[in-house]
Amino acid sequence: MNSKLLKYTKQGIYCPQADIYIDPWGNVDKAVITHGHSDHARRGAKKYLTHRITVPIIKHRLGSDINTKPVEYGEVISVNGVRISLVPAGHIPGSAQVRLEHKGEVAVVSGDYKIEDDGFSAAFEPVKCNTFVTESTFGLPIYKWKPQKEIAADINSWWKANKKKGFASVLCGYSLGKAQRIIKMLDTRIGSIYTHGAVHSVNELLVKEGMILPETRLVTKEIAKSDFVGAMIIAPPSAMGSTWLNKFEPYSLGYASGWMNVRGARRWQAIDIGFALSDHADWPGLNDAIKNTGAESVYVTHGFTSVFVRWLKEQGIDAHELHTQFKGEQVGTDDGEAGN
Ligand SMILES: [Zn+2]
Ligand SMILES: [Zn+2]
Repeated sequence: MNSKLLKYTKQGIYCPQADIYIDPWGNVDKAVITHGHSDHARRGAKKYLTHRITVPIIKHRLGSDINTKPVEYGEVISVNGVRISLVPAGHIPGSAQVRLEHKGEVAVVSGDYKIEDDGFSAAFEPVKCNTFVTESTFGLPIYKWKPQKEIAADINSWWKANKKKGFASVLCGYSLGKAQRIIKMLDTRIGSIYTHGAVHSVNELLVKEGMILPETRLVTKEIAKSDFVGAMIIAPPSAMGSTWLNKFEPYSLGYASGWMNVRGARRWQAIDIGFALSDHADWPGLNDAIKNTGAESVYVTHGFTSVFVRWLKEQGIDAHELHTQFKGEQVGTDDGEAGN
């Protein structure tokens, strides 16, 4: 990287002046974590600085013994003259862009982000900077999301139709972020909402942090099969194709992922319906976000990096690829269970 503030090392993105890594892998002293997804928050740092809401999430996932320092959005931490602050990234609860400022130079590492306000995570805020580090999970022009309220209407009418047939509705999505976003979108007048254990434990952490979710019930062996008739069950993607689903028979199976935007993506999964609901920016979102930073240099970390970098260069932007270990949105696996 030819940034004054950031270097790229084998442990990831590094700010030498502050001696901090952002979302690193391997053993480092100090890490700033953008959000709790497993490809961004890993074990191995002696100290973790992250948003208050991300603290219980990473303790739950990486172990309660890790050393954490919670911060709020906008709170400035000065380390060796570098002003470090977190700005909402709109990706999932607690997700943040990391803003670094030193001697008038500003660098922003955005982690994962989405532009549309989901009404649950703090909404994305554009930040002016000299250097911007971006993802490009959906960095192709074919990816363009429908407004959330239209997707919510689609999900609720699917649920209603299933209920009418005497079916349960099982909807799968990442247990951290996506699942709660879906739960917030549900019309609770239709029926009861149940959760898989992986979703339930994240819900509990977020509610403890003051986030508000409608009432849900954990799926347990004690619940009568008849209770699931007409109900909505929220589960991680790993539940698809597992025997855990048998207890909901008869059911309709849905999957909420940005990849459902593409016809055919749903064919290889044994699902009945796909909802193109993503916690990442779509093509127009990525382009707007980058333009709004006014950055002279843009580094692209994961997703369709080479195509996206070429596109940015054609727009006259000094763009580069970074070969990180970030993974973007995965199909069929749950982020939390990937464990890396
Ligand atoms: Zn993420
Ligand atoms: Zn990511």
